[in-house]
Amino acid sequence: MPTSDNGLARLFADAERPETPPARPPARIGPNAIIQTGEALSALDGPGAARLIFEAAGLGRYIGVVPTTMIDEREPVALFAAVQATLPPAEADRVLADAGHRTGHYILENRIPPIARQILPKLPPGLSSRLLVSAIARHAWTFAGSGSFEGRVTGWTRPVVTLAIAANPLATAGCPWHGAVFQRLFASLCGNVGSVRHSQCCARGDGFCVTQLSLAPIP
Ligand SMILES: [Zn+2]
Repeated sequence: MPTSDNGLARLFADAERPETPPARPPARIGPNAIIQTGEALSALDGPGAARLIFEAAGLGRYIGVVPTTMIDEREPVALFAAVQATLPPAEADRVLADAGHRTGHYILENRIPPIARQILPKLPPGLSSRLLVSAIARHAWTFAGSGSFEGRVTGWTRPVVTLAIAANPLATAGCPWHGAVFQRLFASLCGNVGSVRHSQCCARGDGFCVTQLSLAPIP
């Protein structure tokens, strides 16, 4: 009979070991997809609307108790759908864009090293955008979940950044959330963002969500 904690843990592990391998667990995504959507809803439409929409998405447990670890990506999918089902289309897009802006800010503050935040804005945008693409690729789980992220930059004086997410789980028509995440990051670190285009979208039947940002030189 094991007497140590480890021994007891082993005992439970053996007892709980399934006879067949478990099904593949649901994909995970960073909690900011939930947290910042709650912040945006409260700021733009009031805490009452936020509560209503979280409850409609089956996420009432997060009201006042935000998630602090990776979450099942089906949760923000349900939340984005509830935002769209509850609010008029333009207001839903405004909320999702604001949530994306806040998520981009979070990534900027917490996932981009301070030294990179200091140096990137001082570099020509053709170079800083290439460095930023490779930096955010390492944290793609925060905005892509189970989707597969790829980014590339063409041109040097007026670079065009192309960011693609295959099978984007969080796609909503035109993807205002993703557009705002990327705009916040590139505008902060790589100079002026002249335009943001979402040329392909999984929510409209495409295999990829493709966001293109045109950067102008820093004046
Ligand atoms: Zn899209």
